[in-house]
Amino acid sequence: MSSSWQRLEAMGLGPLWQRRSLPLPSLLATAPAARSLTATSVSPQVTPPPRPRHAGPVEHPAIQAMPAAAPIAPLVAPTQLPAAGELLPWPELEAAVAACRRCRLCETRTNTVFGRGQPGARWLLVGEAPGENEDRQGLAFVGRAGQLLDSMLAAIGLDSETDVFITNVLKCRPPGNRNPSGDEIAACQNYLLQQIAHLKPTVIVALGRFAAQTLLQNSDSIARLRGKVHHYHDIPLIVSFHPAYLLRNLPDKAKAWQDLVLAQRTQRAIEKPH
Ligand code: SF4
Repeated sequence: MSSSWQRLEAMGLGPLWQRRSLPLPSLLATAPAARSLTATSVSPQVTPPPRPRHAGPVEHPAIQAMPAAAPIAPLVAPTQLPAAGELLPWPELEAAVAACRRCRLCETRTNTVFGRGQPGARWLLVGEAPGENEDRQGLAFVGRAGQLLDSMLAAIGLDSETDVFITNVLKCRPPGNRNPSGDEIAACQNYLLQQIAHLKPTVIVALGRFAAQTLLQNSDSIARLRGKVHHYHDIPLIVSFHPAYLLRNLPDKAKAWQDLVLAQRTQRAIEKPH
């Protein structure tokens, strides 16, 4: 049994993966060239039809086939990562979030959710905002969605407690899990920027359309954003599905595994000794 098959077995994806006829593209055949909030296109193994120059990056056929969805993320102007002198020490940053009252979400939250995992991790996973369980427990990605995420990470050899740090764009739960508003994102974004400046991750994985659109400052569908190496403040960023979505759409778990493989290849290509 191959290691890939064992990983899929661990994620409960064996039959799904077997049925797929499309090969996993050579996702890193093209080295990232743009070092800003732009995407590097994927090189598919099939020959695409001619495309007009304005059509944007070429996508894998499996991604092209996914239905487009209306943009949901309110956009806010990107800001710079804090300089070293502007960084709060990690414990003070955590305390600042716990005491934060910078937006209206402080009035309805039960707990702030700073994140979980290893502060020295090379992987940073970013979701949208805490849900009901996270708000109640003060922890990021708990419950069935968190368990699924942990098992997916384990399938590529990552321990969710030691190899990654998992957080959200917003540190407080929007009531009723509504979409965050632009002013809430703007009020909270410095905390995420501080976390990134501390962690200096090798790779960022945006979990779900909202996180992806917010970090990349565009309104493209997740189908268009997946399968490419984007950059967020010069850090490679891969877009994948939110694990809560995957619980409702089991066939897409195989695509999420592709996303994690792309993130892992990206990380290894960067860290490979030259
Ligand atoms: S969402 Fe962010 S900015 Fe708003 S109160 Fe919570 S920590 Fe503060």
